[in-house]
Amino acid sequence: MSKQNDQDPLAAAQLDTLAVRAGIQRTAEGEHAEPIFATSSYIFSSAAEAAARFSGAVSGNVYSRYTNPSVRTFENRLAALEGAEAAVGTASGMSAILSAAMALLRSGDHVVCSRDVFGTTTNLFGRYMTKFGVEVSAVPLLDVDGWRAAMKPNTAMLFLETPSNPLCEVADIAAMAQLARDHNALLVVDNCFCTPALQRPLALGADIVVHSATKYIDGQGRCVGGAVLGRQEHMDEVVTFLRTCGPTMSAFNAWVFLKGLETLRLRMAAHSRSALELANWLQCQPGVDAVYYAGLTDHPGHALARRQQSAFGGVLSFRVAGGQEAAWQFIDGTRLMSHTANLGDAKTTIVHPATTTHGRLSQAQRDQAGIHDSLVRIAVGLEDVSDLQDDVLRGLAAIG
Ligand SMILES: *Cc1c(COP(=O)(O)O)cnc(C)c1O
Repeated sequence: MSKQNDQDPLAAAQLDTLAVRAGIQRTAEGEHAEPIFATSSYIFSSAAEAAARFSGAVSGNVYSRYTNPSVRTFENRLAALEGAEAAVGTASGMSAILSAAMALLRSGDHVVCSRDVFGTTTNLFGRYMTKFGVEVSAVPLLDVDGWRAAMKPNTAMLFLETPSNPLCEVADIAAMAQLARDHNALLVVDNCFCTPALQRPLALGADIVVHSATKYIDGQGRCVGGAVLGRQEHMDEVVTFLRTCGPTMSAFNAWVFLKGLETLRLRMAAHSRSALELANWLQCQPGVDAVYYAGLTDHPGHALARRQQSAFGGVLSFRVAGGQEAAWQFIDGTRLMSHTANLGDAKTTIVHPATTTHGRLSQAQRDQAGIHDSLVRIAVGLEDVSDLQDDVLRGLAAIG
């Protein structure tokens, strides 16, 4: 707040301003950068204050399992970027999804989950939520009739991820939000691939956004973390889950993610620009059969992505001529790109989905989902595109 008046300069601020300034809580030390509050607990000034803070009658820090100023600063800044009433930081992306599910579902509820979500998300719903009496249906992301047909009187949650990994399929968030509303269910969107820099699901009608902060929010592959965002009433439930069950974000990780948010939009713009350039170039390379990137005008999700996203993100995939052997030869022939399943890093990463991220699916399931044996996924980093092109050429030359 300004010394001269009570006007909050961030009240009507733009995304770039919020990314570097939202959520700051300065201490009496006068520090400029946000501090890391490496403390597990907090001192009460009196017994009466301790009682009031414990009961929640007075807000304030109690214990870092559920109140930490560094985590709060991260939460408030991410909430400002997503346009959410509130955010809750978690230990990982998976614990964000778990926290949302545990806080907002009960035994007897039914969840419709996109078939094309992160594989561990499929396991979380299919292996664990079902153990506690939650029914789960899986529907291909783009099968709108399938989603409609899957709805039941007890459907409480729709869960999807757009754009999808690795084929960049794009779901219509506003239409899915309408479907959820028609059935009194909540729409949860995993916004990990776009981040609020490119896509804001809550503004399109989604109820909850979840993140793996591990990816683009960190942006440099250092920390594991996540977040859940949405209306205050829902986030109160998520905080209660966190307080009770403990999948908490650490203060140090919160600080890394907080600093990541400051450069998020610039990085997402650069990832997107380079990915588009590489995708266009890949389409012209002999030995490349098909390129999947929503920024390409012939991608089926292109028009929708243009409407719903401000750019197309950093992840693309393509098929090399041949089968699995050719894809493996290609990957083993590259020298610059990092061969790892992670994404959202300044360093470009390359992986063979059919035998890694999607290796637990049966051949029939992979065929249905379009995860071809010759498919290679690249998460484009921040290197010079010409060096990435040289590396692709090295990979193509190794096929034979
Ligand atoms: C990585 C990832 C997750 C899980 O996040 P972790 O931080 O690894 O637990 C969830 N959703 C998507 C889309 C992801 O890429």
